Amino acid sequence: MVGVVDEAAVEAGIRQAGGELAAALPQGARGPMRALDDRAMDFASQDAELRAALFRFVDVVPACRSLDDLARHLTGFLDDVEDPPQPIGIAMRMGDSRAGRAALGAAAAAGVRRMAHRFIVGQTPREAHGVLRGLWDDGVAASVDLLGEATVTADEADRYAARCASALDDLAAVYAPLPERPLLERDSAGPTPRVNLSVKVSALTPLLRPDAPELGKRDAAVRLRGLLRRARELGAHLHIDIESFDSREAVTELVLELLGEEEFRDGPSTGLVVQAYLRDSPALLERILAWAATDRRRFPLTIRLVKGAYWDHEVVEARQHGWEAPVFEVKAQSDRNFEALTTTLLGARPRVRVAIASHNLRSVANAIAVNRLLGGAPADVEFQVLRGLGDDLQGALAASGQRVRAYCPVGDLVAGMAYLVRRLLENTSNESFLAEQAAGVPLDELLAAP
Ligand SMILES: Cc1cc2nc3c(=O)[nH]c(=O)nc-3n(C[C@H](O)[C@H](O)[C@H](O)COP(=O)(O)OP(=O)(O)OC[C@H]3O[C@@H](n4cnc5c(N)ncnc54)[C@H](O)[C@@H]3O)c2cc1C
Repeated sequence: MVGVVDEAAVEAGIRQAGGELAAALPQGARGPMRALDDRAMDFASQDAELRAALFRFVDVVPACRSLDDLARHLTGFLDDVEDPPQPIGIAMRMGDSRAGRAALGAAAAAGVRRMAHRFIVGQTPREAHGVLRGLWDDGVAASVDLLGEATVTADEADRYAARCASALDDLAAVYAPLPERPLLERDSAGPTPRVNLSVKVSALTPLLRPDAPELGKRDAAVRLRGLLRRARELGAHLHIDIESFDSREAVTELVLELLGEEEFRDGPSTGLVVQAYLRDSPALLERILAWAATDRRRFPLTIRLVKGAYWDHEVVEARQHGWEAPVFEVKAQSDRNFEALTTTLLGARPRVRVAIASHNLRSVANAIAVNRLLGGAPADVEFQVLRGLGDDLQGALAASGQRVRAYCPVGDLVAGMAYLVRRLLENTSNESFLAEQAAGVPLDELLAAP
C-alpha cells in the first residue's frame, strides 16, 4: 500500500464515515459525558477552581479512613473555591456538624466509587469475566490493564509481573471456549490473538529514571522477558503502554531490543504506543517503521496510535524546568498530527499492524476514510476505546462492521485513582472532543478539519 492519499477524497470520506458512525450511535447519545453528568462534573467543566478542588479530593479518597475523614477533606478542598455553585454551598454547610459530615462523606465516597466502576471492570481479572464475555458477544475484543502505577520496590515489581502472568492464564481460560468472531481474530497479515494484555514498564521496575535509563531497562527486561515467554506459550498478545515523556525513550528502546532477540522472533504478538501530542512523534514513528522494515517476525508489531494522556503533566513539568514542552500546546496541532500519523501508519502495513485509539469521531472517521482509500479491509485497522468513555462509539463501530477493542482496567480503587484522575482531567477539559459532543455541537462541526 502506498501512503499517498488525496486530501479532498479524504475529507469526503470523513463525512461519509462520520455520518455512518453518527447514525449507528444510540438515539440521543450525548457521548460518555452522559455517564459523567453528575452535577459536580458539570460544574467542574465550567469552574477551574472547583475542578482543581475535586481532583485533589479524588486523589486523597483512597487514603481516607472514615466517612468523617472524607467529608473533612472534601469541605477543606471546597473551602478554596470562591463563590461555589449553590449545591456545593449546601454540601459545605453539611460539613459543619458531625452527622452532616458522615452523610456527606457517605455520598462522596459512593459518588467516587460509582464513577470508578464505570471505568474499572472489576477488582480482579476473575471479576471481569462477565464483562469480557459480554463484550465478545457484542463483537468487541478487549485489552485488560492491571491497575497499579507507582512501583517503588523490587517486591512490588515482582508482584505486578506475577499478577500479569496470572492474568494471562486467566484470560486464556476465559477466551478459549468463546465462539468464533472472524473480524476480531484475523486480518490480512494472519491470525490475531484473542487474549490481549496491556502492561506498563514503570510497574515492572522501580528503577525507571530518566537520568539512568539503562539501569531501568535492564531491571525491567528480566520481568518483561518472563511475560513475553508466557504470552507466547499461551498465544496471547502483550501490549506495552507508553506513559510520560521522561520514560518514553527507554521503554520504546527496551521493547524493540527485546523483540530483536532470537527467542522472540516467533512471537508473541506484541505492541507499542505512539503519542501524537509529542512534537517528535513523526520522527519516532519513522524510527519504529525503519526497525520494522528490517525485522522479520511472525507477528507484525502492532502500533497503537493515541494523542497522549499526560498533557497536563508534561506542560507543568516543562514549565517548572523552564524547558519547551515536548507536547504541542494547541489541541488542533495534536489532532492534525494524529491524522498525519494515521496516514503514515496505514500506508506502512503489512510491516506493522495498526490500532487507532481515540474517542474523537473526526479522528476515527479519518482512519476509516484513509483505510478505504488505500483499499484496506475493515479487519486491517483496529479501533480502540477506553471502557466507560468510548462505550457508545464502540457500539457504533461494531455495528458498522469495524474491528473494535475496549481497553479494560482491572484493579482496586486505590490503584485506580491515578487512572481515574487522568480520565476526569481529560473529560472536564474544555478542549475534549467528548465534552464538545456532550454539549450538543452539530455533527458538521465535530467532523470539521482541525
Ligand atoms: C484504548 C486506548 C489506549 C490508550 N493508551 C494510552 C497510552 O498507552 N498512553 C497514553 O499516553 N495515552 C493512552 N490513551 C489515552 C489517549 O492518549 C487520549 O488521552 C485519549 O484517548 C483522549 O484522546 P481522544 O482522541 O479520544 O480525544 P480528544 O478530545 O480529541 O483529544 C484529547 C487529547 O488531545 C490532547 N490535547 C488536549 N489539549 C491539548 C492542547 N492544548 N494542546 C495539544 N494537545 C492537547 C491530549 O492528548 C488529550 O488527551 C489511550 C486511549 C485509548 C482509547
